[in-house]
Amino acid sequence: MFSILRNARTFAQRTPARSFHSNRILNQEKMKASILAILYNGFKAAEEEPRLLGTVENREWLISQGHEFIVSSSKEGPDSDFQKHITDAEILITTPFHPGYLTADLFEKAKKLKLCVTAGVGSDHIDLNAAVKHKVQVLEVSGSNVVSVAEHVIMSMLLLVRNFVPAHEVIERGDWQVSDIARNAFDLEGKVVGTIGAGRIGYRVLQRLVPFDCKELLYYDYAALPQAATDAVKARRVEDLKEFVSQCDVVTINCPLHEGTKGLVNEELLSHFKKGAWLVNTARGAICDKDAVAKALKSGHLSGYAGDVWNVQPAPKDHVWRTMKNPLGGGNGMVPHYSGTTLDAQARYANGVKSILENYFDNKPQEPQNIIVGLGKYETKAYGQR
Ligand code: NAD
Repeated sequence: MFSILRNARTFAQRTPARSFHSNRILNQEKMKASILAILYNGFKAAEEEPRLLGTVENREWLISQGHEFIVSSSKEGPDSDFQKHITDAEILITTPFHPGYLTADLFEKAKKLKLCVTAGVGSDHIDLNAAVKHKVQVLEVSGSNVVSVAEHVIMSMLLLVRNFVPAHEVIERGDWQVSDIARNAFDLEGKVVGTIGAGRIGYRVLQRLVPFDCKELLYYDYAALPQAATDAVKARRVEDLKEFVSQCDVVTINCPLHEGTKGLVNEELLSHFKKGAWLVNTARGAICDKDAVAKALKSGHLSGYAGDVWNVQPAPKDHVWRTMKNPLGGGNGMVPHYSGTTLDAQARYANGVKSILENYFDNKPQEPQNIIVGLGKYETKAYGQR
């Protein structure tokens, strides 16, 4: 597993959770909040690149708020900083890129918790039903990284369809066997491409596909797009998921992870995919059945699978998605979870977190689109039809 995890732990041991006040005088009772932030370690990269705001090291944007913060990357097990300090935290800041999993059990211990803020988009690492039950609000910075992800989706489709990764590997090996690559390389033009989920990211993917002259653009979502939006990209809605996947050459997943989408792409659904289809998932790893995907790729039923999200993060070293291949030795476009944490995206979600905290402390209303769970109820329809 566990080299990434071991590094994180080692770092956490070397530099234990940091607790600090800014030197601003906390003169208002309401400001004396205990804030716990679980972020990822940046190590040397964070020292060299101050715009890596999502890291434990470059946390000044948090401190400047004038509150007491505990910032750590240590998140697994009862001795982690996350589990030790959640009992006293009023506010929890987490990021999907290094998710602190706030389970229903941990909610029982988090008696002082009032607000969870996701630095990014996607709050499935928080047990949202438990948040409703305990009247803990959950907010994310909606829209902050949706272009970053949509661009990554387009790139992933192209690298699968055009057989890019094996082609690059040929070059690195010092070889030049064009036919080995070209035998499995195609154009995106003329293909049927569909998105499961046509929200902020899914729709932006459709928009970016328009100039590629695909045969057809499809979407599957329980919320219909407005007519003008559908017309603008000439997309067709398919209401039955099996029918939808059976028509697509390329499927991209852009819906949140919730009870209705966990394991949605399983062996049964994969059997309805076109033989040789490509699948791109930058939404959440657990939407796809890990072993069913690996099996479909190995048999050639899927020609390729790409994405940046994993069912557990950091992904274990022996995770089958790291090395799985199609029968021709390609078809794997997996990377660590980073599509939504480009430097451009980090600036946007850091600013978004700051304004959520300011609103909270100043008793101002939050931006409605950022509220996933309000006081005791879901405020969004994106996390399941309720
Ligand atoms: P959004 O809320 O704008 O859109 C989500 C859409 O999914 C909605 O239209 C909703 O109706 C639809 N949906 C929900 N359940 C569905 C289901 N069962 N079947 C079909 N459609 C369903 O969210 P968004 O900003 O587009 O983000 C979508 C997801 O992408 C996030 O929840 C997150 O998990 C993921 N994401 C990943 C990264 C990354 O870095 N890889 C970054 C941002 C977001």
